[in-house]
Amino acid sequence: MAPLDLLDLDTLLNDEERDIREVVRRVADDRVRPHVADWYETGSTPVRDLALEFGKLGLLGMHLTGYGCAGASAVSYGLACMELEAADSGVRSLVSVQGSLAMYAIWKYGSEEQKQRWLPGMAAGELIGCFGLTEPDHGSDPANMSTRARRDGGDWVLDGGKMWITNAPLADVAVIWARAEEGVVGFAVPTDSPGFTAREIKHKMSLRASSTGEITLEGVRLPDDARLPQARGLKAPLSCLTEARFGIIWGAMGAARDCLRVALDYATTREQFGRPIGGFQLTQAKLADMSLELQKGFLLALHLGRLRDSAGSLRPEQVSVGKLNNVREAIAIARQCRTILGGNGISGEYPVMRHANNLESVLTYEGTSEIHQLVIGQKLTGLNAFA
Ligand SMILES: Cc1cc2nc3c(=O)[nH]c(=O)nc-3n(C[C@H](O)[C@H](O)[C@H](O)COP(=O)(O)OP(=O)(O)OC[C@H]3O[C@@H](n4cnc5c(N)ncnc54)[C@H](O)[C@@H]3O)c2cc1C
Repeated sequence: MAPLDLLDLDTLLNDEERDIREVVRRVADDRVRPHVADWYETGSTPVRDLALEFGKLGLLGMHLTGYGCAGASAVSYGLACMELEAADSGVRSLVSVQGSLAMYAIWKYGSEEQKQRWLPGMAAGELIGCFGLTEPDHGSDPANMSTRARRDGGDWVLDGGKMWITNAPLADVAVIWARAEEGVVGFAVPTDSPGFTAREIKHKMSLRASSTGEITLEGVRLPDDARLPQARGLKAPLSCLTEARFGIIWGAMGAARDCLRVALDYATTREQFGRPIGGFQLTQAKLADMSLELQKGFLLALHLGRLRDSAGSLRPEQVSVGKLNNVREAIAIARQCRTILGGNGISGEYPVMRHANNLESVLTYEGTSEIHQLVIGQKLTGLNAFA
């Protein structure tokens, strides 16, 4: 990556962080890159095989402690997300949803029994988890969710539906958020529970190397010990989103870096008008501006990572600054790189359009750009503009 590291930002990482990055980069290069264009085109990714490999490397629930999790630093986890997303955002999403959404929810809000039951298998990649918050009619506004949980004797009964749920079609356990009399509650739902179905969402034009599903809950009866006992109110699922957004801040820069790497290579080898297109000032201006945003985005991710490692957590608006900026700049870089590749830019032979298309999902999930603007706006003004 040396030509892209104009500021020697690598020197800001310690040896352990560089080692972890190298290991993840190698597995992405060997195991993902050679196949991902086909997975994307056919919409079929060997998620279970990948999960087992990532589990062996300690990438699942990497930043959590105990229960077979690696207990890595926030920066190391971020670097892993960056390397995975440099290969494909869908593959990074698999790791984010497993570790930062499904596992984190159980780790943070589950009972000891739930943690023992699910987390070691999820850390090993033997069990797949998903996280169901979004619904067909309630995305940015989960407070108005329609899914209901009602008590029936000692049991709970869930009715409703969840939409756009990563990994849902192949998950073994689904963390489901529902409204009960006492407010929003969460459950660790075994996906073989009667009344639980998950169908694959077809016709995606983005994140095609990731499985995305629609969940239907029809009278799903669960014992009380399936409820996450420590989760009280909407702030529980929102705290899980804060976790996952942290990985996206890094991951988006990985996708952007990969685009810029390819565009730079292309610009120095592709000739028009008798010389490399990288020799034209207009192309150089594009490359220079993109390298600025890439490095600023990396510095922002690293700053947030160091802050989190020292303070233990980040405030939601800090995460919003990172997600809003880095995904917005990453998608701008991907689209600009596509122009440098000309006609080849629209081909799956190159990763650029795949990254650009993937980043459309990344821009939307875990809070759209508009929602992050509102979070930051509210912090700046003290005024709530959400509704
Ligand atoms: C590939 C993919 C994977 C996903 N994985 C998961 C998952 O694993 N789990 C999960 O729970 N969800 C998941 N999601 C869902 C995702 O989080 C939602 O799509 C997202 O929160 C937006 O919700 P929505 O699609 O309903 O859009 P809407 O909320 O309907 O928003 C539509 C538009 O209106 C804008 N808007 C909404 N409210 C306001 C406002 N107050 N002010 C200004 N503008 C506003 C939005 O910014 C957006 O531009 C996934 C989505 C995708 C595409």
